[in-house]
Amino acid sequence: MSTSFDALKQREEKLLCRTYGRYPIAIKHGEGARLYDFDGKEYIDLLAGIAVTNVGHCRPELAEVVAEQSRKLVHVSNLFYQEEQLDLAEKLLATCHFDKAFFCNSGAEANEAAIKLCRRYTQRVQGRDAGEIITFTGAFHGRTLATVAATGQAKFADGFAPIPQGFTQVEWGNLSALEEAISDKTAGVLVEVIQGEGGIRPMTAEFAQGVERICREKGILFMVDEIQTGLCRTGKFWAHQLFDLKPDVMSSAKALANGLPMGAMLCTDEVAQGFEPGSHATTFGAGAVLSAVAAKVVDIMVDEKLAEHAHDLGEYAMKSFREIGERHPGTIDEVRGHGLMIGIVLSQPGKDVWNALIERGFILNLTQERVLRLVPPLVITKEDIDSFANVLEELLS
Ligand SMILES: *Cc1c(COP(=O)(O)O)cnc(C)c1O
Repeated sequence: MSTSFDALKQREEKLLCRTYGRYPIAIKHGEGARLYDFDGKEYIDLLAGIAVTNVGHCRPELAEVVAEQSRKLVHVSNLFYQEEQLDLAEKLLATCHFDKAFFCNSGAEANEAAIKLCRRYTQRVQGRDAGEIITFTGAFHGRTLATVAATGQAKFADGFAPIPQGFTQVEWGNLSALEEAISDKTAGVLVEVIQGEGGIRPMTAEFAQGVERICREKGILFMVDEIQTGLCRTGKFWAHQLFDLKPDVMSSAKALANGLPMGAMLCTDEVAQGFEPGSHATTFGAGAVLSAVAAKVVDIMVDEKLAEHAHDLGEYAMKSFREIGERHPGTIDEVRGHGLMIGIVLSQPGKDVWNALIERGFILNLTQERVLRLVPPLVITKEDIDSFANVLEELLS
């Protein structure tokens, strides 16, 4: 480790709250699907800042938008009408069946908006005295208190009692458990189309369509958390489109402004009736700079057909990883995912393989001990995938 790295590490220990288990790397700059550390070492980025920089690091077009818009207007507050928000909303809503947007600053806030809207719609529009939200085991919905409650994994709630009430967890994939858990107190279901943090676990079509059907039968809201799966990641613009779902509410964030903090909650006109002026708000939500950047991100995704690219390259990558598993039995249990959201489930705990991959110049994440999580920038090339596959095969053999 270089002296500059050690110096950074020491400064951080003194200055920052210890909330993060850092990787032993400090990144200085990035470009496309490449990252460079303080010693100038080059990495192929298979993480994209956890499914965030989908159109690649440091796009000159986006830098241009930031510079231009920040000379014109940065912030006036949501007391005012703002054209940049509307331009973004039009572009975003054109990618899906939703009618209306609420913009915020992060994924957790997008889920908070979804939860609040669900409850208020149920209570004020449907006129039902209900507010419980059902989520699934292995879920991850964020780190605010309500989203920690929605997440329902003990480790994220540890030491933070009392955790807010009103959330029920049901076993992932179990439709009859879902049906049983719904009562006259239930307002909606919130689900990731592919669990990200939970180890890249995709819903099957049967499970996905079953959840939607049960929500319709029971008259409760069907909400999807697409914070990680959204914005072309899975081979469709939105992952719920993989299964022809029509959720009432969707949360988005991560890739929305390609690394600048932005979240969105999208919903149907029907459900949007749950909010009135004053019901919900945020100071920064969809400021002019972020809105202009996010609108450009959507343009790039459409122009460069990044959903199709993610689909094609994802199929290619998963096939090549599965072949590695076949050539070396007992190393890879399963390769799963959609598009460029891929989990390679190793047969053994993967810390050593992960370390060696970092050492060899590949940035990626290990989740649930055994799952190598690949969520690269969508502009990554076949050659980069091949380089990774070659090194992975070498390490597993
Ligand atoms: C990252 C993530 C969140 C939380 O987003 P933040 O921006 O960190 O608040 C919520 N849900 C899913 C599925 C995520 O991947």
